[in-house]
Amino acid sequence: MQIIDDSAVTFSATDSFETDTLIVGAGVIGLAIARALAGHVEELLVVESENMIGSGISSRNSEVIHAGIYYPEGSLKARLCVEGRGLLYEYCESHNIPFRRCGKLIVASDLSQSQTLDRILNQGRANGVTDLCWLDEAELRLREPSLCAVAGVHSPSTGIIDSHQLMLQLQGDAERQGALFAFNSPVVGGRVHESGFEVFVGGTSPCKIRCRRLINAAGLGGVSLMRSLQGFPEHLIPDFYMARGNYFSLTVPSPFSHLIYPIPEAGGLGVHLTLDLSGQARFGPDVEWIDQIDYQTNADRMAHFYHEIRRYWLLLPEGSLQPSYCGIRPKLSGPGEANADFVLQDETQHGISGLINLLGIESPGLTASLAIARQVKSLLIR
Ligand SMILES: Cc1cc2nc3c(=O)[nH]c(=O)nc-3n(C[C@H](O)[C@H](O)[C@H](O)COP(=O)(O)OP(=O)(O)OC[C@H]3O[C@@H](n4cnc5c(N)ncnc54)[C@H](O)[C@@H]3O)c2cc1C
Repeated sequence: MQIIDDSAVTFSATDSFETDTLIVGAGVIGLAIARALAGHVEELLVVESENMIGSGISSRNSEVIHAGIYYPEGSLKARLCVEGRGLLYEYCESHNIPFRRCGKLIVASDLSQSQTLDRILNQGRANGVTDLCWLDEAELRLREPSLCAVAGVHSPSTGIIDSHQLMLQLQGDAERQGALFAFNSPVVGGRVHESGFEVFVGGTSPCKIRCRRLINAAGLGGVSLMRSLQGFPEHLIPDFYMARGNYFSLTVPSPFSHLIYPIPEAGGLGVHLTLDLSGQARFGPDVEWIDQIDYQTNADRMAHFYHEIRRYWLLLPEGSLQPSYCGIRPKLSGPGEANADFVLQDETQHGISGLINLLGIESPGLTASLAIARQVKSLLIR
């Protein structure tokens, strides 16, 4: 093993070595887990196929700190979002990570949507989001005069965050506690042994790593990583789908100070308006089912965006949208199916000591990251 700088490790072709704990993936989930485990395990190595942290799902999202409203009561999404939101605000405050509690409005654009909105309000309250309040049309207009809606739910604890600063901070915290990071290190397969795992790393410097604990936080690569792990029970490998979410940015100043969400659509939260910390507004993500990872924003969705946005912002000027970027959701449920929950597989499910698979970590994974990490730590270190 050759140390390149304080944190990075590279392998030579013949390398074969051991670490106590191996995390696959340096997105926000792998980084949060690395921070939680570093200093509590003997040696911790994070392997990442790309050349930097957070270049997958974690850098292509809305950067919203969600309150925890929509998810079924008792689900991992609901529980870990509510817990993670509190942890994330605390972490931002104590580590000077830029964020803003700007609040969000979920709006019904006609009376037929009011009942759904009422269900959403009750769902949020059942999940422990205690500060939601119902607004009628006049109250909505007072807060957002450009909004066209008959009713809304205000979520004051929804916010926005600089997710890149968050990830850098998590990496720094993990490194200060002794975690090592190896970039350009794609895991191409592995084997389950009686006393742990043997993991094969490809790329330009292939090597084998033996470890006692293995954490699969590979995002879009998580299910294929499970498939490549010899000795893992096949029947526990879920179906996997991908849904691209396209974003369009607004080229004129935004008239809104809150995040604005319509009633959710199948597979996503509807084409909503989010703001970044500089006040730039963007719309999206929509839901586009895809077969291959492809980060080309689909400009053909423009007409659909104008149509959806004008349901709540009638006066959206023609020519004010431009294709921006896209992200890809790791989905465990396909088109037309009910949204699947996060999956955190541990020994109690697959019978393999030391192995954790984190699957289907779509939204609200960023918000839930610190709570997911806390849960993984409690599963591994008793
Ligand atoms: C469009 C969109 C919008 C979203 N908006 C929000 C939001 O506003 N708020 C919120 O809370 N959540 C949001 N989310 C969810 C959130 O972004 C994700 O839950 C979170 O980023 C997932 O992080 P991750 O670490 O699991 O995945 P990733 O960030 O993708 O990290 C996985 C890493 O593993 C690496 N990897 C993959 N395979 C291998 C391999 N074989 N070997 C080595 N490395 C490998 C990848 O290169 C990648 O860096 C959104 C998601 C999407 C898609």
